[in-house]
Amino acid sequence: MDGNKRTVIVVGAGIIGAAIALELQRRGRQVTLIDRNPPGEGASFGNMASIALDFAAGSGPSTWAKIPGWLLDPEGPVWLRPSYAPKMLPWFLRFIAAGRPSRLREIEDAGMSLSRHALSDFRAMLDVAGVPELMTEEGCLAIYETEAEFAGDRAHIEFMRRYGFEHRVLSGAEIRDYEPALSPSIAKAVLLPDNKSIRNPHQLVLKLVEAARAQGAIFTPGAARSVERRANGDITVLLEDGRRLEADDVVLAAGVRTRFLASALGEPIPLETERGYHTQIMKPGIAMRYSVIWPRRAFMVTPTAGGIRVGGNVELAGLDAPPDFRRPRVLVRHAQRALPGLQVEDARDWMGHRPALPDTIPIISPSSRIPGVWYATGHGHLGLTFSATTARLMADMMTGATPAVDMTPLRINRY
Ligand SMILES: Cc1cc2nc3c(=O)[nH]c(=O)nc-3n(C[C@H](O)[C@H](O)[C@H](O)COP(=O)(O)OP(=O)(O)OC[C@H]3O[C@@H](n4cnc5c(N)ncnc54)[C@H](O)[C@@H]3O)c2cc1C
Repeated sequence: MDGNKRTVIVVGAGIIGAAIALELQRRGRQVTLIDRNPPGEGASFGNMASIALDFAAGSGPSTWAKIPGWLLDPEGPVWLRPSYAPKMLPWFLRFIAAGRPSRLREIEDAGMSLSRHALSDFRAMLDVAGVPELMTEEGCLAIYETEAEFAGDRAHIEFMRRYGFEHRVLSGAEIRDYEPALSPSIAKAVLLPDNKSIRNPHQLVLKLVEAARAQGAIFTPGAARSVERRANGDITVLLEDGRRLEADDVVLAAGVRTRFLASALGEPIPLETERGYHTQIMKPGIAMRYSVIWPRRAFMVTPTAGGIRVGGNVELAGLDAPPDFRRPRVLVRHAQRALPGLQVEDARDWMGHRPALPDTIPIISPSSRIPGVWYATGHGHLGLTFSATTARLMADMMTGATPAVDMTPLRINRY
């Protein structure tokens, strides 16, 4: 270790913390990465592996209109546990406010400013980690069972047009030419050629941590309890086991649990868990080339290194409620409707916590109160997609380089 290097503690070894640790170490910082668990076992373990560049704001008039129907449908894409509803209320009110037309446009611009860089940054990150083969080249098919369903997604297709996002509408037999496993009942599809996927998201985190360590970073197990700034400007991270780690800077990238650390620092953030599920099917009985998203039913099917992964949806039930594995069963049934040959043998269910902010865009920001404290959290449904860009922007800010995007909309003090 070089004693003259500026030191950084990164709290959280999910995809966001691991990507930041690698980028900062590469740029000459001495990084210590800590996690209460082994790397990559939070939300980053089981996401749907999609580099989804067609950013979509969560809130907005078209979403509001669908919410009552979703909440009443036991097989719908959003489930709210009634006992958790009162706790969700402040977040939900902010979510509604984020859908005002004037705010929506700002959110879309900010989201697309990250999306524009996401793929090239991702490729660069995979190259640095020496694992370019972890990304597939095939793209994604958004599917629609009826013309009416397709028409219902018009706003999103219009959005892609407006931002110049490459897409191609397919119909009839053309769909099966791309993905023969899809049912003839799928009437329409949109090919999103730039929405690549990652063969194994958990392995990706492990590879990033391995690459950071190969460049001199240290990984140490430990749960951060709080963060303090000392009189000399150093930052101290206090761990649950009583240890104190010191550095010049600290990056808080602890997924949804960042909210506890932020709140202890006096800057509360409206971070909630949008719980999501997947079923990993080791013997699916079909082969797929493309990942498939069914917008109306809000789930994905992704071919991964360990079989076919079916997942998505949102459960609002807080951090502590046990998983309800009836949820992924619903998704698998929907998937079998789109992919009639899909068998569910040797399958494993999983649940994870998306770190979700009410306005969909992440916080990538210096603390507004304490110099030397930085935040990278709230990536919601797009943490994998935005990981490399987040790392680059964070490293730019911390090393005095000019970030390639306007960071104002991503600041912590926007709430
Ligand atoms: C079902 C599902 C599907 C998804 N699909 C996609 C997709 O296709 N594409 C996409 O881009 N995104 C997707 N996402 C979202 C993506 O997975 C998340 O946005 C991303 O993983 C968040 O990464 P993170 O590093 O912020 O959080 P996490 O992966 O949760 O990592 C946070 C880490 O911090 C650690 N930690 C927490 N508290 C402390 C503490 N006090 N001290 C030390 N360590 C701590 C945790 O142990 C954890 O390892 C999906 C998510 C889910 C659940």
